[in-house]
Amino acid sequence: MENKNFRTWLDDMQLDHPLVIAGPCSAESEEQVLEVAHELKNTDTTVFRAGVWKPRTRPGNFEGNGVKALPWLQKVKEETGLLTAIEIANAQHAKLALEFDIDILWIGARTAVNPFAVQEIAEAIQSTDKIVLVKNPINPDLDLWIGAIERFHKMGVTNLGAIHRGFSSFRKSQYRNIPSWQIPIDLKSKYPTLPIINDPSHICGNREGIFDVSQTALDLKFDGLMIETHCNPDEAWSDAKQQIKPVRLVEIMKDLRIRKPRFEKEESISKLNAFRKEINAKDDQLLETLAERMQIVENIGKAKKERNVAVLQNTRWQEILQNMVEKGEEQGLTKEFIEKIFKAIHQESIAHQEKIING
Ligand code: PEP
Ligand code: MN
Repeated sequence: MENKNFRTWLDDMQLDHPLVIAGPCSAESEEQVLEVAHELKNTDTTVFRAGVWKPRTRPGNFEGNGVKALPWLQKVKEETGLLTAIEIANAQHAKLALEFDIDILWIGARTAVNPFAVQEIAEAIQSTDKIVLVKNPINPDLDLWIGAIERFHKMGVTNLGAIHRGFSSFRKSQYRNIPSWQIPIDLKSKYPTLPIINDPSHICGNREGIFDVSQTALDLKFDGLMIETHCNPDEAWSDAKQQIKPVRLVEIMKDLRIRKPRFEKEESISKLNAFRKEINAKDDQLLETLAERMQIVENIGKAKKERNVAVLQNTRWQEILQNMVEKGEEQGLTKEFIEKIFKAIHQESIAHQEKIING
């Protein structure tokens, strides 16, 4: 599956920051929608998001204004020039979104888990040139996520992207939905040109964590951020705890550090190669050398911090894994075992470098 269109669209905009999709969790009223949109107009925001049909865990909560809200979004476009994005969850939503000329359609996490629902939507919008973004399914299943994206691709939808919004877990954690960064990294390895947007709002479930999650996303070379934004978040009709004010969005965008994609200077490349040789030697000694290995990883982190370079160097990661699986198999260790161990090492290394880079 190749995807270049949404990527080309992003490249053509030549933004000096990641794509920003911002706006309220729900379109509550025409006034609320236009107020937020006008506040976002002169920020880094390119796309205005608002939920029109809201999937709620239990009935009786506000389920969105539905079709009535679609003209409000048309007004947003006319008055502010922002592009518009909504969630669609069935064929009827899909048809209405196209009818009202919404620019970007996203598939929610609760829909992405259901192949029947995804297929129905894909058929309803087949061959559309609108951008379609597929959120990760609520459970941590990369194949299910890929399957949903493939269903659109098969129906001739080629302007595709993914949104990483974290995964629900029975484990107690600081997150509403745990990020499990390795899953979007695996998606990126499989489809290097597919743009991935991070949604820190639904990962955190609170306002406090949004900056750090956004920074991690940029360190991992995500292409954009979807951030829930409301002029009066405390009074929001849904997801009140996680929405931020437009002024806070401006601050976050100002403070985020945007990394260069790779080392540029000759001396830092050779410095990096020296560390990597050492790391490879330690990897050959496997588990016993983990503590030493982590220390070297931290040195690279310092070099990256000095040069403002992204934490994730994906080509390098693929090389390591392949090499270790081959050597492991020679020593009678299964591919599954080696992959499990090295994915865990990789995850831990990122965490250490993140601490150095952002500490
Ligand atoms: C949303 O973006 O408001 C939403 C409902 O998200 P998710 O599908 O990720 O829960
Ligand atoms: Mn929400």
